[in-house]
Amino acid sequence: MILIGIGSNLSGPWGSSLETVGRALNELGRDRLTLLKASRLLMSRPYGNVHQPAFVNAVAQIATHLPPDALLSRLHSIERAAGRRRSRRWGPRTLDLDLLDYHGLVREGRLTLPHPGIADRLFVLVPLAEIVPRWVHPLRHQTARQLMRRLGASGEGSEI
Ligand code: ATP
Ligand code: CA
Ligand code: CA
Repeated sequence: MILIGIGSNLSGPWGSSLETVGRALNELGRDRLTLLKASRLLMSRPYGNVHQPAFVNAVAQIATHLPPDALLSRLHSIERAAGRRRSRRWGPRTLDLDLLDYHGLVREGRLTLPHPGIADRLFVLVPLAEIVPRWVHPLRHQTARQLMRRLGASGEGSEI
């Protein structure tokens, strides 16, 4: 199973954050990528101690024959098309596409899998649990719902 985390908190060439996430979902279904499932869109407070606008977040399940590194490059080119300028980590951005899981692969380096933030982020776990309740974290061997419980919350943010 291949899962992508999507986030936006700045408007850009594709419009508002909401429109940008919508267009990103569209891009995840083109040119050798197949969009299988998309979560509802979620509003959440920014991660990290940075004062910035709220995020629109979603999770998508896709299918592709691209290997993981090529898929990451593809995600980066979609981010660039959406006007992303790389600045500080967790800073404001028009579009952020994280490769959350690539068929349970575990590796570290330029591309770390599974994405190291999953278990600590409700804005990832909530939409993930919605679209693939049976998904199990490749390292922790827990479902998104079990990981959410560990964070002591039933859900964060409000749906749009
Ligand atoms: P975080 O990764 O904590 O969510 P971020 O999304 O703000 O933070 P970026 O600036 O978008 O971080 O990416 C930093 C680097 O992380 C990228 O250059 C990318 O190569 C690398 N990276 C490593 N693993 C992954 C992954 N699973 N998905 C996306 N990028 C990854
Ligand atoms: Ca991210
Ligand atoms: Ca990222």
